[in-house]
Amino acid sequence: MGTGHKDGSAGATRQLDAVVIGAGFAGLCALYKFRDVLGLEVQVYETGNGVGGTWYWNRYPGARCDSESFYYCFSFDDDLAQEWEWSGKYPEQPEIERYLNHVADRFDLRRDIQLATRVTHARFDDATNRWEVRTEHGECVSAQFLVTAVGCLSAANLPDIPGRDSFEGELCHTARWPSDGIDFTGKRVGLIGTGSTGIQAAPVIASEADHLTVFQRTPNFSVPARHAAFAPEDQAEIKKDYAEIFRLTRESPAGFPYFPIDRSTHDVSADEREEILEGLWEEGGFKFLWGGFNDLLLDPAANEIASEFVRNKIRETVKDPETAELLCPKCHPYGSKRPPIDTDYYETFNRDNVSLVDLKTTPIEEITPTGLRTSSAEYAFDVLVFATGFDAMTGSLLRIDIEGAGGVRLADSWAEGPRSFLGLQVAGFPNLFTITGPGSPSVLVNMPVAIEHHVDWIADCIQHMQREGKTRVETTASAQEAWVEHVAEVSTYSLLGRANSWYVGANIPGKPRVVAPYAGGQPLYRERCEAVVNSDYEGLEFGG
Ligand code: NAP
Repeated sequence: MGTGHKDGSAGATRQLDAVVIGAGFAGLCALYKFRDVLGLEVQVYETGNGVGGTWYWNRYPGARCDSESFYYCFSFDDDLAQEWEWSGKYPEQPEIERYLNHVADRFDLRRDIQLATRVTHARFDDATNRWEVRTEHGECVSAQFLVTAVGCLSAANLPDIPGRDSFEGELCHTARWPSDGIDFTGKRVGLIGTGSTGIQAAPVIASEADHLTVFQRTPNFSVPARHAAFAPEDQAEIKKDYAEIFRLTRESPAGFPYFPIDRSTHDVSADEREEILEGLWEEGGFKFLWGGFNDLLLDPAANEIASEFVRNKIRETVKDPETAELLCPKCHPYGSKRPPIDTDYYETFNRDNVSLVDLKTTPIEEITPTGLRTSSAEYAFDVLVFATGFDAMTGSLLRIDIEGAGGVRLADSWAEGPRSFLGLQVAGFPNLFTITGPGSPSVLVNMPVAIEHHVDWIADCIQHMQREGKTRVETTASAQEAWVEHVAEVSTYSLLGRANSWYVGANIPGKPRVVAPYAGGQPLYRERCEAVVNSDYEGLEFGG
């Protein structure tokens, strides 16, 4: 079989069963399943110089997982789960990167992964029912299936602030951190952004830098992670129960091995409510969001009680009352922006070398060669850190020029916002599968759990096609329409769409406002996916 070469030199076009774009959690899982279980010939392309996706790129100080290690991992292989030792509850980026490298080695995945290769174009050929996939190096391959494993949060958003490129110090986005790090010792650092990333980075930068100035546009509700190292007996306990832990992650609303309590905020007395919230706060982590009262994300009054609880914690922690008030979110419900969890974030503002600037009252006007100017003051910096997030959910897909049947471009199909069937297929784009695509629960679920579900579903669909002798699969326009309507309707019941967050695309100027993830919860979503399979793939059309 011929090969299109990395340098773009001539050769017959390589014929593959599937191209997978991305070698993070999703790409590694897809390669394993498609190649080693289905027996397909698969090529993975990855932009980074190493595997890991999110955990390759996000090397900023303080980067660590905010789901607990022992279920933020693959469940598809028992031996893998039993062998791997996590150091503690919330591993730092290097440990997760090591884990994903271990997975790549353990399953001999590297031979089918081409690193340092960005896929630039993909065009569906109606005559052959195959995708023609091109890379930045001019390589071209042909594949029956195109599977995107590009991540929901991987297209970095570097806001075009006037004067940005004139800055003469070091300027860095957290998701494009230099591999040899940045030495903050003795430096004046400006940090823009107080999402999960900024909140993780601030305490670590503050502990190294001469001075840290945090520029906050919107305050965030953060809950302490309460990180702790694992003792050997913790690991043994977890491993004894692994099958049950993984089962719970598949059955719970958000992919965690626990459920919300079966009472609403108003079912209990004020004292009991306080006790429950206090217990969740003490335990720390995402339980405050996903393991608390069952009306937290549904009922604004219930949400306000939890929101005020967190505000009071901020007020108790931050010594300067003015700074504390600035850090208290008052314009969005708890959880309507993806809430961070932290280690010493609020405590950081008690340090002498940290100051907070409220961009709501004094917006940034320009970046200057020596720092930054707001409407009220000028600041000098040696380093400017942009923790400004991502063009989420759609950005990494739309940065590839994807052309479906009849030459229709994905960017045009999604001009008014993403449209999909189950977040897995897009009408007009046959043989394209989008792992954790918009319209699926994706970012509202512990990601490895959402990813494994999608990879399994896609693999089942491909096997179905193999059995039936089909070479083309495409969702119908009407199935897609019905799903898009359902996603939109479900989002109206939840408070998730209430904030200007990346969930709705509000962080990117000009992006259509659409609640991109499916807010109906994992159980309902899985039920719908299963119903499609059980109805002989109602909503999909097969051909060829
Ligand atoms: P983010 O949540 O979108 O936060 C970006 C921050 O930058 C916000 O505070 C935003 O303010 C601010 N910002 C954006 N553009 C700005 C501008 N032009 N001027 C001033 N401020 C600006 O991004 P993120 O913190 O990188 O987190 C993104 C997601 O990645 C998280 O929600 C989470 O899902 C994931 N993440 C996960 C982990 C983990 O698991 N450990 C860690 C980090 C991130 P506004 O709020 O006003 O827009």
